[in-house]
Amino acid sequence: MKQSKLMMFMPEMRIFWFFILLLLGVLGTTFFELSPVLKIVSFVILTGIGFIVYVNTTQITRKNLETKTAYARLQNVISNLRDGVIVYDQNFKIYIFNSAAENILSLKAEEIIGQTFTLKLKEGMQPKYRLLLMLLFPALAPTVIRRTEAGAYPQITDFSFDNPQLDLRVTTTEVRDEDGYAVGYMKVVRDRTRELALLRAKNEFITIASHQLRTPLTGISWAWETLHGETLTSEQKEVVENGREATSYLLKIIEDLLQTAQIEEGRFGYQFTEVDMKKFAEEIVGEYMPVAKEKQVSLYLDAPKESVTLMADADKLRIALSNLVDNGIKYNIPGGEVTVTIELPTKEPFVKVSVKDTGLGIAEETLPQLFKKFFRGEEVKQREVNGSGLGLYIVKNIIRRHGGKIWAESTPNRGSIFSFTLPTDPSLIPPKEIVYEEE
Ligand code: ADP
Repeated sequence: MKQSKLMMFMPEMRIFWFFILLLLGVLGTTFFELSPVLKIVSFVILTGIGFIVYVNTTQITRKNLETKTAYARLQNVISNLRDGVIVYDQNFKIYIFNSAAENILSLKAEEIIGQTFTLKLKEGMQPKYRLLLMLLFPALAPTVIRRTEAGAYPQITDFSFDNPQLDLRVTTTEVRDEDGYAVGYMKVVRDRTRELALLRAKNEFITIASHQLRTPLTGISWAWETLHGETLTSEQKEVVENGREATSYLLKIIEDLLQTAQIEEGRFGYQFTEVDMKKFAEEIVGEYMPVAKEKQVSLYLDAPKESVTLMADADKLRIALSNLVDNGIKYNIPGGEVTVTIELPTKEPFVKVSVKDTGLGIAEETLPQLFKKFFRGEEVKQREVNGSGLGLYIVKNIIRRHGGKIWAESTPNRGSIFSFTLPTDPSLIPPKEIVYEEE
């Protein structure tokens, strides 16, 4: 049916049809008894009123028809989305519950739409509503990871349920009326169960393979070390040296892969204790002195007189700082310098640690890529073949887990500065280890 025809039969047009009937009634009963002048006058008046009624009602009808069409289209889009969509008001009364939400939560829209869910309902609520209730009130869910700051919208939260295994990412946005007042919320629910199962399987494979490779490689490494201590000809020495280097490189890659897999599964296992940052940095710088010397690089520590302690996982922090110092030496030039600086908190409760080198530097366009998994700069690939590209990814995760930030500044051919912060206030340390995902 054409839109204009359709409009004529919409309920909003009733007033117009009623008026026409009234008009016909009036005309039928009294019109013919009127004088010719009055006939003309009343005809003009009634037609005028009829015209106004017609214009007004068709306008309202058109608007309503447009709204209905737009709503139907929106309903169609929402119901065909692969992600679940749940819309509810401030009182948690559900208005929209699309078919993807039905599938993910094993519920039927008709039993949900119009229902009001409250925390009080928790007791005595049918078990089938359990998942929905936890999505609406995340405090009830056993495993929840907030990906965004509390109170800020859109809010991204990851839920993980056992039995059956279900991994959901829920994005909550506010629904506002025309005047900008929040009238409800919309939750978009993405089922990531399969995606995460694949990630777990991949990490499991890497973990098993790395463990299996590590044991024999450690044996080979010991064999090279034993030979290294023997009296050898210069040719034999070279062979042993190459063997030692290749084995330690392989062990480092395996260690990096293992750590990456553990980080991605959220089970790197942090143990926080009190750490004296000055002593800690002194130890690492001391350990790297021979490496720096071998590369003809001078290594310095610039620390304040006062000691500064904070809560940290010393083993993990060791991995982080060692990686930065190692890079500073590795990507340096003979005669270059690496300086580790510790700065005490000033305004904010954070200690700042920076590792400055006078090495190759990094091109500006490369800086945003540095902390991504497997990234290796083109400039360094030819010069330094050894490297997994996982070091900085691991470092970033460790710093984030401590509630700190990490960043890099650099001038090509002049050097780079990698800086990170660590909170001195333990309440700024995230409560849980979260699975880090690249932005
Ligand atoms: P890897 O050192 O194993 O390649 P990293 O994750 O530690 O992996 O570093 C990634 C890349 O960042 C390096 O390949 C290099 O291109 C660049 N990079 C890191 N540190 C420095 C540095 N101090 N100077 C110059 N480039 C650096």
